[in-house]
Amino acid sequence: MSVTSDKPKKSPKVQGSPRDKTPKSPRTKSKGAKSKEATAERFAALEEVGQNSLDLLLVVDKSGSVKYANPAALATFGISLEESIGTDAFAYLHPDDVERVSTQFLELLQTPRGSIRDTVRIVAANEEVRDIELVSTNALASVAVAGIILNGRDVTEHNNYVKQLHVLEERFRLAFEDNMAPMVFTDLDDRVFAANDAFCNMIGFSREEVLGKDSTPFTHPADIGITEASHRRILRGEEGQSRYVKRYLRKDGRLIYVEVSRSPARDEDGQILYNVISERDITDERTLAAELSHQALHDTLTGLSNRALFTDRLEQARAKIARDGGLYAVLLLDLDDFKGVNDSFGHLAGDQLLQAVARRLEHVTRATDTLCRFGGDEFLYLTEGLNSPKDAELTATRLLDALVEPFSVAGTRVEQQASIGVTVSDGTKFEMNDLVRNADVALYEAKREGKGRFVLFTPSMHQQVVDRFELVRELRQALQSGDLRMHYQPIVDLDTLEIVGFEALMRWQHPVRGWVPPNVFIPAAEQSDLILDLGYFALREAISAASSWKQSGEETKDLSIGVNLSARQFHDPGLVSIIESVLAQSELSPEQLVIEITESVTLHNVSETMNVMEQLGRFGITFALDDFGTGYSSLSYLALLQPKIIKVDRSFVSPKMKNSLNVALLEAIVSLGLKLNMTVLAEGIETPAQFERLRNFGCELGQGFLWSPAIPKEEVPAMLRRGLTASTIS
Ligand code: C2E
Ligand code: MG
Ligand code: MG
Repeated sequence: MSVTSDKPKKSPKVQGSPRDKTPKSPRTKSKGAKSKEATAERFAALEEVGQNSLDLLLVVDKSGSVKYANPAALATFGISLEESIGTDAFAYLHPDDVERVSTQFLELLQTPRGSIRDTVRIVAANEEVRDIELVSTNALASVAVAGIILNGRDVTEHNNYVKQLHVLEERFRLAFEDNMAPMVFTDLDDRVFAANDAFCNMIGFSREEVLGKDSTPFTHPADIGITEASHRRILRGEEGQSRYVKRYLRKDGRLIYVEVSRSPARDEDGQILYNVISERDITDERTLAAELSHQALHDTLTGLSNRALFTDRLEQARAKIARDGGLYAVLLLDLDDFKGVNDSFGHLAGDQLLQAVARRLEHVTRATDTLCRFGGDEFLYLTEGLNSPKDAELTATRLLDALVEPFSVAGTRVEQQASIGVTVSDGTKFEMNDLVRNADVALYEAKREGKGRFVLFTPSMHQQVVDRFELVRELRQALQSGDLRMHYQPIVDLDTLEIVGFEALMRWQHPVRGWVPPNVFIPAAEQSDLILDLGYFALREAISAASSWKQSGEETKDLSIGVNLSARQFHDPGLVSIIESVLAQSELSPEQLVIEITESVTLHNVSETMNVMEQLGRFGITFALDDFGTGYSSLSYLALLQPKIIKVDRSFVSPKMKNSLNVALLEAIVSLGLKLNMTVLAEGIETPAQFERLRNFGCELGQGFLWSPAIPKEEVPAMLRRGLTASTIS
């Protein structure tokens, strides 16, 4: 409040001024006013103005008594002009404002022609408190007025409106500033003019750093365009509001994903005033979603793609090849004898090896190819854009080469090779499942051909698989029906030409196919558990046959009986106890039983094989290493397994090509066996010359068509009685 005056101030001198704070009824006249008969003075000029004014107009004397009140004032106070004259103007005030206004009034009295502006509260006739913007003017010196002019404007409605606005604004401010959702307001240039705490926290910049700028400094460079485009679309009216996802680069360098909702605030004419932007940090959601989709499409152990992703890629590749031409190939890779690692070192080590294999394969996977763990120890590889099947072969070679270097697992060096089946397609021939199935067929061939290699699928292979499947089914039946029998080939002492034992060989007389050779049906049976049944059948039959001969005559008591055991049987936990019990039920002594194994037995798991051999060896059973010389590492296995008997493979005894080198090899093998104190047995002796040669080399035993093929067990006693006559030899 300021008092303006064109005269110097004098000290206030109060006369009859109302100091009483208790409200007086405006309708009671002041003491002074009551003492004299008050009449309305005429204020011609004022009346002129006041008559139609919306403002309240009063003239009071020095003591505050009303001398004139215009209709607006009278209506407010609910009194007539006559009633108002002489009343105390201060009595119309709200009690709380009386003292302040009185002080101002006294000051004003001291200020000729001065005026005071203030907002005061009055109590209207209906007891309603109203806000009045009051201008009090000292017109004492004016001849026409000779009083204080009080000009009041009722601003109650306006003030209420402003107050309401404040409340709204406050509410809005709280809603904006304290909102958990990050929010910003931007102008028509998309520059931020308000940003809440949540927004600042989200992007890691202070409010000062953000205000006045567009979002470029904290937006991922690749996403600046998204923001600008959305802003422009809204400005051009192409979009009422927009919603999009963008990335911010926080001040700490972290990248966050944000979902943005942008809507324009408009004036009554629909003109855009500013943008209201609300945002949501969706980084965690996206990470989770990415993790979930990664998990759904990847193998948890190796992190490679899984079947689902592979199938998807295969479908894409097929579509692409169908469109653009060319070839693609599916390679199915299976680790050779992986089971051995699990068995010897435990599953944890097995898992480690799988991971290490995955890394090696991944290392040689081209960016455009897909490597997937198919399950267990199988991996699938998809390669596209091939010009010829030769390219697929190169890929297979690359994968196999990646595994050549030994792995280090559980502190041990482990060699882990693999076999691969390859299918090449031009996208038209095969369905997706066929590709994997064909690769599987080719893989089977690769295993059959000796593992550690790849084989390319050919349609004839498929027929082979079907045939093999049928064969195994029939073989199972044969075992039941008695079409499967054991025959016995004599083993001859090359010095004395006496029969020292027999080898039990399995024979299958098929009702339609006739004699099926064991080289055909044994490998087929080895692909299933049927081989175990066949193995025990052979064992029981051979032992029972041998004990029946034993009972038949004196001269048979020391005959040995050789039984071939498949590699699979060495992993059968029941093997030792079954052999024990079969022997126990027979007349045979364990020393007479010769178990023939090939070096493939040890390929699965050396320590397990050794363990089984030791148990059986303690029992007195003899081991023969069959087909010696045909494997890769016959010599090292010789040292490892230390068999009592070495059976020199037929290919050395009756080689297809007779040359001095083969003869020298045969001699070397025989003398090696003798030096190692092992008995050497030559297989497949067909001619007297071969027999003579072997005898000269010092080979102790032999078997072959020169003397006899395998014969049924019923014929054995007669052969034993007869002996191997000169006529048989010639
Ligand atoms: P193997 O154990 O090396 O058996 C010797 C094979 O050589 C037998 O073939 C035998 O008939 C043949 N043979 C013997 N003397 C001569 C000869 O002078 N000339 C020629 N050309 N061949 C001769 P077979 O019976 O066809 O058996 C082949 C293979 O099948 C066996 O080789 C053996 O590995 C396997 N096998 C046979 N029976 C069984 C069995 O009961 N269990 C298992 N697991 N494998 C068996
Ligand atoms: Mg054999
Ligand atoms: Mg053999």
